Amino acid sequence: MNQNTSFDTVIFDLDGTLSDSAPGILASLGHAFAETGFTPPDDLVRFIGPPLQTAFLEEGFTVEQITELMTAYRAHYWEIGAFANFVYPGIEQVLDSLAGHGYRLAIATSKPELTARRILEFFGFTERFEVIGGATFDLTRATKSAVVGYVLEQLGPSRPVMVGDRHHDIEGSAEHGLDCVGVTWGYAVDGELQAAGARWIVDEPHEIVTVVRHGR
Ligand SMILES: [Mg+2]
Repeated sequence: MNQNTSFDTVIFDLDGTLSDSAPGILASLGHAFAETGFTPPDDLVRFIGPPLQTAFLEEGFTVEQITELMTAYRAHYWEIGAFANFVYPGIEQVLDSLAGHGYRLAIATSKPELTARRILEFFGFTERFEVIGGATFDLTRATKSAVVGYVLEQLGPSRPVMVGDRHHDIEGSAEHGLDCVGVTWGYAVDGELQAAGARWIVDEPHEIVTVVRHGR
């Protein structure tokens, strides 16, 4: 068992941490802009990670435009985009190893929870996670902090560590007093994980197990 650190639970982000969801997200964004006729921003990669509505707002779209974009995006993502999505090599072994060492596993994602469940089912991962927490479609639960809080409530008493690829994961879990392992294979820009204050930063999936078990 995990006697070497105080953690007993690992909460994973989904996009950019467990899987490369960029191909599907970018395809569905492309569809949404084509369908609505709005001009897409130059750098759509920045849309991967934060809630999409927030990213659209930051780009200066109005609430009405965002509603149109989200409707077109979701229709495409639900049927097509969700499945242009690939588990990173080595991740399945990490989940096996952590489960084998007795850790409880959970998901905290800014994706709508129903969509996240659909994707985890597609990967055959549903049974691996004790709690799967995501955003609500209506944004009443949207930020990473809100999702992490919701996951912690469902976990009950636990000593969790967060694993994620963006500053939202580090900051959102820190709001609940959690340490975060930042992973470099996702969508963070250079220096983002350091600036956000990730306690650990790893370049390879197998290092997650070392950090969680041994704190280094
Ligand atoms: Mg992510």
